[in-house]
Amino acid sequence: MPDPKLTKAWHGVPREMIDWHPTVNEDACIGCGTCVTGCGRGVYRFDFGRKKPVVAEPLNCLIGCTTCANTCPTHAISFPPLERIAQLLEKPEVHHVVEEELLARQDQLSWQEALPHPDRLVQLEVTQIEPIGQHNLLVTLKPHRESDCMCQFTPGQYLEIWVPGTPWMSRAYSIGSAPREDGRIELHLRRVEGGRFTTWAFEQMKVGDVLTARGPLGNFVIRSSLDKPLLFVARGTGFAPIKAMIEQQLKLTPQRNLALFWGVTDTRDFYELHLLASWAKSDPNFRCVLTARKISAGFTVPEGLKFRAGTCYDALAADPLEIAHRDAYVAGPLKTVQAVLQVLKRRGIPSERIFIDAFGS
Ligand code: SF4
Ligand code: SF4
Repeated sequence: MPDPKLTKAWHGVPREMIDWHPTVNEDACIGCGTCVTGCGRGVYRFDFGRKKPVVAEPLNCLIGCTTCANTCPTHAISFPPLERIAQLLEKPEVHHVVEEELLARQDQLSWQEALPHPDRLVQLEVTQIEPIGQHNLLVTLKPHRESDCMCQFTPGQYLEIWVPGTPWMSRAYSIGSAPREDGRIELHLRRVEGGRFTTWAFEQMKVGDVLTARGPLGNFVIRSSLDKPLLFVARGTGFAPIKAMIEQQLKLTPQRNLALFWGVTDTRDFYELHLLASWAKSDPNFRCVLTARKISAGFTVPEGLKFRAGTCYDALAADPLEIAHRDAYVAGPLKTVQAVLQVLKRRGIPSERIFIDAFGS
């Protein structure tokens, strides 16, 4: 019988709905028993006659655990692909249950000693909300008090922001611009279906709201020497940190050679194309390739920019641009980032010269 203590719903998903348990390849198994005695959840029994493990209680297996496979001397144990769990974790409802669990056990789980960056809590006032592209919002924020400045910001960094009036935890968003003279910064928000912060932002946020935020945070910043040509690759709102970085480089190192590949799903998802076109026009060292899987009616490629149907990584693979000598900065959903990394490595950029900022798709 499955143990009810071990087969509780996994972050709200009934255990029996999740196919996660070991499978033993008996041909490879030498019957050592390590998996049987090593599992603390009673998943295995041992067939002493045949000297083989038996997966007797598959539902007792801990979701994501692969200890018995890792310790099997003959690699006889396999599991379903881990992507299956990653896909579950991408569902907002699962993520929300994890959040509720953390909050419910805060007294027990809270690490009291080192609140990260307690000095970086700031109050930011919403000054502008503007739809950009098909599914995105551009939100402009300014310091609510003088002490709330974003002066320490380095392009590429992010903020953590709380939904006002809720116990929910903060969400991270890249900052899409260096602070303007009056301290304003911009965020590019992509609507996540069912996501708590973006649902609030798209449906309730209004000019004048004051948000508590922590930041700027993160190490996704330009680390290359001044003479190094740079390659930027962005997918969707991964454009935000990349835009801030390019903006910085055009000002600080106008001679530096910069190339951007920016991919979206549908050409209606593009935004700020006028800005990219103005950069391409005014700076001969800036080159930009746009990509989209779907070309919607009315789309025209702004002068000075290039366009290719498909993905940013396919465009990158096919483009004649010499990239092996560049440092690369890549921002976007994890799956795209992984595909981009493969192309970059194939095209000669070693991993130590690739910097990434990945988020869930
Ligand atoms: S650890 Fe591997 S070899 Fe040993 S009994 Fe288990 S499956 Fe067989
Ligand atoms: S993966 Fe972990 S919980 Fe599952 S059977 Fe192996 S050791 Fe036990």
